[in-house]
Amino acid sequence: MAAAALWRSCAKLRRNMPIYLASWKTPPSVFKSSKSEAMANLSNEGVVCAPLDTLTEEEIMMKEMVKKFAQDRIAPLVKTMDANAEMDASVLQGLFEQGLLSIELGPEYGGTGSSFFSTILVVEELAKVDPAVALLCELQNTITNKLFITYGTEEQKRTYLPRLAKDLTGSFCLSEAGSGSDAFALKTRADKKEDYYVINGSKMWISFAEQAGVFFVMANANPSLGYKGITCFIVDRGTEGLHVGKKEDKLGIRATSTCPVTFENVKVPKTNILGQLGEGYKYAIGILNVGRIGIAAQMLGLAPGMF
Ligand SMILES: Cc1cc2nc3c(=O)[nH]c(=O)nc-3n(C[C@H](O)[C@H](O)[C@H](O)COP(=O)(O)OP(=O)(O)OC[C@H]3O[C@@H](n4cnc5c(N)ncnc54)[C@H](O)[C@@H]3O)c2cc1C
Repeated sequence: MAAAALWRSCAKLRRNMPIYLASWKTPPSVFKSSKSEAMANLSNEGVVCAPLDTLTEEEIMMKEMVKKFAQDRIAPLVKTMDANAEMDASVLQGLFEQGLLSIELGPEYGGTGSSFFSTILVVEELAKVDPAVALLCELQNTITNKLFITYGTEEQKRTYLPRLAKDLTGSFCLSEAGSGSDAFALKTRADKKEDYYVINGSKMWISFAEQAGVFFVMANANPSLGYKGITCFIVDRGTEGLHVGKKEDKLGIRATSTCPVTFENVKVPKTNILGQLGEGYKYAIGILNVGRIGIAAQMLGLAPGMF
């Protein structure tokens, strides 16, 4: 059974952890205490939420399903994909078919309708076999899909989410040659014309850019405001002036491409702004915090996988 159908049928078992992650409020003590204390706290606080070290029936089934998928469909290809620095098309297709690239998207968008916690378990399980595949899953679920879900207009969601569940992948373009850790020093500009913007600049180390069909591009639309001018634009791959450069010849996670992406007079309608003008820096901080949890899960899977 595809993951999507399996998880939907187990909806009642889901934990509600994402609420705490999303709001950064103090989590209930169930996350901090021993299992027995946690159980007691559960009833005291009325929180319907399992301790992190106790997986629900659904989560156990899902882990088994991903483990089998990784063993059967990914493991035989790992060496070749790493040597060729190329993700096999069958792996990408398999991830879509199993619902692993749309874990938190609702069924109305063709997604699996599961939790952030499930995403983390899936990334960890995939990374045991191939951290490059896990990275793709991590990026799509915790960055691309989450940006659309959190900040997208209804029209943007309707346009992109069904495809992100089916056959489209995204890339997140923030870093530049001169702005890595100091991300808000970015130089990419978005100049306002009538009802559109013109983007010029160069991004570096953009994960999965070789395959991506849609790009989130952080560009400054009002440099006089400093980082408060940074705005997030949705740019389709086919847009004139968008060029994806040669991928880096990396030491690891080679099956996930890492490329420069340049923008030469790229015209983007103002309806392609994600969220609010000048709020891009907030979205970047927020989404990278979520993404970091995914990267931690990737490392947690990689370690036992190597052992
Ligand atoms: C495999 C891979 C995939 C990536 N994918 C993406 C992507 O999809 N999208 C994207 O936008 N970016 C991506 N990046 C870029 C990544 O976000 C940057 O590499 C990261 O932000 C660090 O920037 P940098 O490499 O310029 O290092 P630097 O910022 O130059 O840092 C180099 C070292 O200096 C230290 N350092 C920096 N500033 C200070 C300071 N003020 N004080 C003390 N120490 C400091 C850092 O901790 C680090 O150890 C990717 C990078 C890699 C390697």
